[in-house]
Amino acid sequence: MKTNKRLKPFLLLASIAVLASCKTNKKAEQIDGVKVVSVNPDYFIADNIIGEITQKTVDLDGTPTLCYVFKTNSRPSEHQMGPWCPRHIDDAKEKGGIWFKDGNVYDVDGHFIAELADFYEDDQWKVFREDGSVKYTATQEECEGAAKPDVEEAYQNYCVECLPRYYKDQITTFTIPVTPVYTDREQRLGRGGLGVAFNGVNFDPPAPTHAILAAHTIAPLDDHGGHVNPHGGYHYHAATGSTKEVKQADVHSSMIGYAIDGFGIYALLDENKNQPTDLDDCGGHVDETRGYHYHAGEPGGNEIIKCLHGVPGSVHVQE
Ligand SMILES: [Zn+2]
Ligand SMILES: [Zn+2]
Repeated sequence: MKTNKRLKPFLLLASIAVLASCKTNKKAEQIDGVKVVSVNPDYFIADNIIGEITQKTVDLDGTPTLCYVFKTNSRPSEHQMGPWCPRHIDDAKEKGGIWFKDGNVYDVDGHFIAELADFYEDDQWKVFREDGSVKYTATQEECEGAAKPDVEEAYQNYCVECLPRYYKDQITTFTIPVTPVYTDREQRLGRGGLGVAFNGVNFDPPAPTHAILAAHTIAPLDDHGGHVNPHGGYHYHAATGSTKEVKQADVHSSMIGYAIDGFGIYALLDENKNQPTDLDDCGGHVDETRGYHYHAGEPGGNEIIKCLHGVPGSVHVQE
C-alpha cells in the first residue's frame, strides 16, 4: 500500500467510482410541474476548484444529461481541519472534535473518552491507557487499519483519526446535472458523496456508526462536521455553519451547497431561527423562489440529507 502511494502520481492506480444512487432497472419518472432551479456554478469558491468548472453531456439513469464537471482536493478554505481525538483524558474540548448519539452532539474531550463505557452502557469500552493517554491512530498505517468496516483487531478500542496530509493528492471529481430533474423516486444514498459544499468539500452520507461502534472505536468529526477517510479525504457528515453560505433575499435560510442531483442544500434554520415544517422524507420541499431544494439536518442527526429526489450525478475519488 505504501509503495503504491509513493508511485501514485505516475501510475494513477486506483480510481473509485462511487455513484450516489442505488442501481435499479426501473427508470425514475420525471415529474413535471415541480419548479426546479439550475445550478449556479459561480457559488463555488473558485480557488478551491482545480482548473475550471466544465460542462459535459453524461449518461444519467439512461438519459444523456448536461452536467457540470469539476475537480477539487476536498479541502476547506474557510476553516482549519481537526482536531479529532484528544490525547489525554484530562484534555479540554478544544483538543478534540464532536460525536453524536440519538440526535445530540457531544464534545469529544478527555472526559468523554474516559466515560465511553457509561455513555454506551458497555464496559468493553476503554479507549485510554492506565496513564490516562488516549489510544488514537497516530500514523497513516494505524488510521488505515482502523478506518474501515472490518476494523483490525489491534485498533479495537481506539479513537480513529486520519490526517488530511496522508491524502493530500487525492482528487475528487463531481458531476452534477446543470438543471436538476425532479423524479417520483426517492433514491437512497449509497456510500458515495451526496453533495458538495461551496468550498468543494464532499457532503457524505451518514457515517457508518454501527460498524464503528461495534469495534469499540469512535471516529470523531471536527467542530466543522468533517473528518478524513482513506478513500475520500476530508468530508462532512454534518452542516455546522462553518462553510460559505449564500444569503437569500427573503428570510429563508442560507444556501450551503448542492446535492449530487443538482438541487440546492440550505441550512436548517431561517433568519428567525425557524425550521421548515413541510419537509419530505429526503429533507426537501418546494418554494416559489428556490424550487425544490433540501434543508440540512441537525448536526447530531448524522444525516445532511436523507435521500435524493432528483437524478443523481456522481462523485469519483482518484486515490
Ligand atoms: Zn466519514
Ligand atoms: Zn426551504
